[in-house]
Amino acid sequence: MFQAQNPDCLFCKIVKGEIPAKIIYKDEKCVAFHDIDPQAPTHFLVIPKVHIGSCGEINGTNSQVVCRCFEVISKVTKELGITDFRVVSNCGAQAGQSVPHLHFHVLAGRDMTWPPG
Ligand code: 5GP
Ligand code: ZN
Repeated sequence: MFQAQNPDCLFCKIVKGEIPAKIIYKDEKCVAFHDIDPQAPTHFLVIPKVHIGSCGEINGTNSQVVCRCFEVISKVTKELGITDFRVVSNCGAQAGQSVPHLHFHVLAGRDMTWPPG
């Protein structure tokens, strides 16, 4: 069943302000905030306010907020003066997803290797 917010979800709690975060940007659809455990000199997350579990739950009904997330990534990186960066979304435990609310990691400020681990 569709849930705008999941009461047990960590990132829904950040959206609602129940858990503090270093917010960089927010609008009616998305929030960007610094990762609590940065893996690069710049590491922030962009999430939809609505609860979507992962990339595997994106569909024709909710994909507009995903487009907005990428607009936010473009806007925030420009504002931070970042031209080179990596966007990652882990989907599922085997891929390394630990928080089951769709999020896009934005990493910058160091050399990145490929393939990722
Ligand atoms: P995942 O492992 O699901 O791809 O990414 C989840 C990310 O959320 C991790 O990079 C982790 O450091 C970050 N994270 C987990 N809990 C919190 C929190 O309470 N606040 C913030 N700002 N980031 C968190
Ligand atoms: Zn959530």
